[in-house]
Amino acid sequence: MIGGGYVGLVSAACFAEFGTEVAVVETHPGRLATLRKGEIPIYEPGLDKLVSENIEAGRLSFGNDVAAAVAGADAIFIAVGTPPRNGDGHADLTYVFAAAEQVARAMTGYAVIVTKSTVPVGTGRRIAETVRRLRPDLAFDVASNPEFLREGNAIGDFMKPDRVVIGTDTDQPGGTERAQEIMRRLYRPLYVIEAPILFTSLESSELIKYAANSFLAMKISFINEMADLCERVGADVHELARGIGMDHRIGRKFLHAGPGYGGSCFPKDTLALMRIAQEAGASSRLVEATVQVNDARKASMGARIMSACGGSVRGKTIAVFGLTFKPGTDDMRDAPSIPIIHRLIENGALVRAFDPAGMTAARPLLPKHDITYCTDAIDAATGANAVLVLTEWNEFRAISPDRHRDLMTGKVVVDLRNIWEPSSMARAGFDYSSVGRPERR
Ligand code: NAD
Repeated sequence: MIGGGYVGLVSAACFAEFGTEVAVVETHPGRLATLRKGEIPIYEPGLDKLVSENIEAGRLSFGNDVAAAVAGADAIFIAVGTPPRNGDGHADLTYVFAAAEQVARAMTGYAVIVTKSTVPVGTGRRIAETVRRLRPDLAFDVASNPEFLREGNAIGDFMKPDRVVIGTDTDQPGGTERAQEIMRRLYRPLYVIEAPILFTSLESSELIKYAANSFLAMKISFINEMADLCERVGADVHELARGIGMDHRIGRKFLHAGPGYGGSCFPKDTLALMRIAQEAGASSRLVEATVQVNDARKASMGARIMSACGGSVRGKTIAVFGLTFKPGTDDMRDAPSIPIIHRLIENGALVRAFDPAGMTAARPLLPKHDITYCTDAIDAATGANAVLVLTEWNEFRAISPDRHRDLMTGKVVVDLRNIWEPSSMARAGFDYSSVGRPERR
């Protein structure tokens, strides 16, 4: 497994749990040192236990030596980052090709080289060309096996997936059977739970990942637009989401209105899909609109908060509950909290922030001044003029609003994740606003 980040580490630990021997190669010295100590460098529920048990069982190891890891391997997964390339939205494949070259040089015999990273259509074939150029002597196959896990629920998603997608080079007559057989063997434990395994061409598999994420992002932008409409016409976006989600053709998931999607995948994968379509001469107008709606939404949140605070936040203290892009992770990549907090501080607010897992990752991304990192939500609310909910961690839902009301100097609550009920917040004496719901009932 080349790359020991969110995807590489979770995949490695889960494959090891399935009984496969996995060697993880990680080049980041800090991450590697942590992993070698038996600790994990990211926050992901249950992962520490899974990693330590599998190290102990001798199935999981960590190092920085590609040659040692790939020697004798049946499958070599590339699970390195594919961040957006500066400026043009295209996925930056520098890490992928660097890994592919290292792998090619180190291989000692036949193996399937599998991209687990999310990569644009055509990357698998380009990896095959790279390997062939560097090692014309070598027998190998390439495969695409995109990962659909969600941070915060990664182990469950990996162990009980809705489906596993495996793309192989279907242009090669008979050339894919060996690769398919190895991949089938790796995922065999999932046959017990009857998880569907979908074999496709390389191109389909690569595109499936971008299409899936773009579709989910589109659902979020859709419900956010509906939330704005609900506010204008006096409807309730929760009732609306339930009413449409009960239709199986639509489905209940990803219909939660909020401050706009963020994270390490949706923003970059929607941009990359647009770029792939543009280069192929195809249109991607729905995805373009999805991105525009989301950008506008994130940008409009500052004004919404200022208006809830009486038109200005200058000199006001705002308690921020939650910084990560979603609960259950320490991942701060593209979190909506980043532009929102910058905007508030630029407009003269003082911020008291708390997040159960994301504080360390948040610090370098947030303003250096006018922000205090607190020990918990109650500490953040103490002396604040307003509370702003940015991430729906369960521990925030569990706080009785009466508790922080008495510690605050103001009574404004802006709940961008709809974790509380408008009627009970009004009864508790708050000046409460949320997303897409009538303010009082
Ligand atoms: P990450 O940044 O957490 O992890 C990548 C790791 O690879 C880093 O630790 C880095 O040090 C290491 N690395 C880079 N080059 C290396 C090399 N040559 N040898 C060894 N290690 C190397 O990224 P991530 O979140 O795990 O994402 C990886 C890929 O999976 C991306 O393409 C992403 O789009 C995709 N993906 C991510 C998620 C998610 O929820 N994070 C879900 C599905 C798919």
